[in-house]
Amino acid sequence: MKVLHTVAEARSEVRAAKAAGKRIVLVPTMGALHEGHRALLAAGRGAGEVLALSIFVNPLQFGPSEDLSAYPRPFGRDLEVARGSGVDLVFAPPAGEVYPQGFETFVDQRKLPNHLCGVSRPGHFRGVLTVVLKLFHILEPDVAIFGEKDWQQLQTIRRMVQDLDLAVEVRAHPIVRERSGLARSSRNAYLSRAGRAAAALVRRALEAGRLALDRGARDPGRIRAAMARVLARSPLLVPEYAAVADPETLEDLSAVADRALLALAVRVERARLIDNLVWRAAPRVARAGARRKGRKPLS
Ligand code: AMP
Repeated sequence: MKVLHTVAEARSEVRAAKAAGKRIVLVPTMGALHEGHRALLAAGRGAGEVLALSIFVNPLQFGPSEDLSAYPRPFGRDLEVARGSGVDLVFAPPAGEVYPQGFETFVDQRKLPNHLCGVSRPGHFRGVLTVVLKLFHILEPDVAIFGEKDWQQLQTIRRMVQDLDLAVEVRAHPIVRERSGLARSSRNAYLSRAGRAAAALVRRALEAGRLALDRGARDPGRIRAAMARVLARSPLLVPEYAAVADPETLEDLSAVADRALLALAVRVERARLIDNLVWRAAPRVARAGARRKGRKPLS
């Protein structure tokens, strides 16, 4: 496994791999690797010949009052995880290598960042897109894998790839959870035992939203209320948003038709946690078939 810290080193490795006709798969992360990252790496292992992992806590995507300096950086442990996951190439540049003196070019999007996390994190997606575009240029991946946990990030990256004609295939990986249902996150490390127990309610709130939809609710206000009731069970949870939105445009829905993104951001102690699920209506045929047999439709 090669561990590279400069753009020049990464470039020459990538060029050699490409010259040998190898496909490069990239899993971009901020490190503090957990089961979620491991799952992305396992998916990446089978998707090409060179598995690249980037570890970079990107200062550009943190707001001035956010946790940039506190963000966990267990680099030695991360390298162990990378080795155990069959990574071929780790790219872990210092911030000055990515943003040298005089850096002034950024990637902006017009609408997608105006929703969900973008509301309380102005500039966050600009930071994400800028660094992801740079990683794509430096590491030239054929495939890049991102987690559905950061749903909005995934949509903004897909949009950028489409809009800027980038020759990379973006693949999404489902959310990896703890047994309690809590989505794995590097920021879970900030939680106390009580905080972790409370945080498990986030997934339960999404399930309550899903149940409301399965039972026929189509008014986003009712679905949001169902999620809010679950979150209100713990005083440790401070909801930031509970959204019922279009899964692609991320715009709030005025009524749910056949699909909806349910997305939550909740503060728990020092952590800000996000989670989501995409609800889809059961296919009509199944509904009609189930009705004929006198059963409730599956959902
Ligand atoms: P991060 O290191 O938090 O920036 O995450 C790096 C990548 O891992 C992103 O594509 C995340 O969406 C993904 N990821 C983080 N946590 C999970 C999880 N619990 N399940 C699936 N993907 C995840």
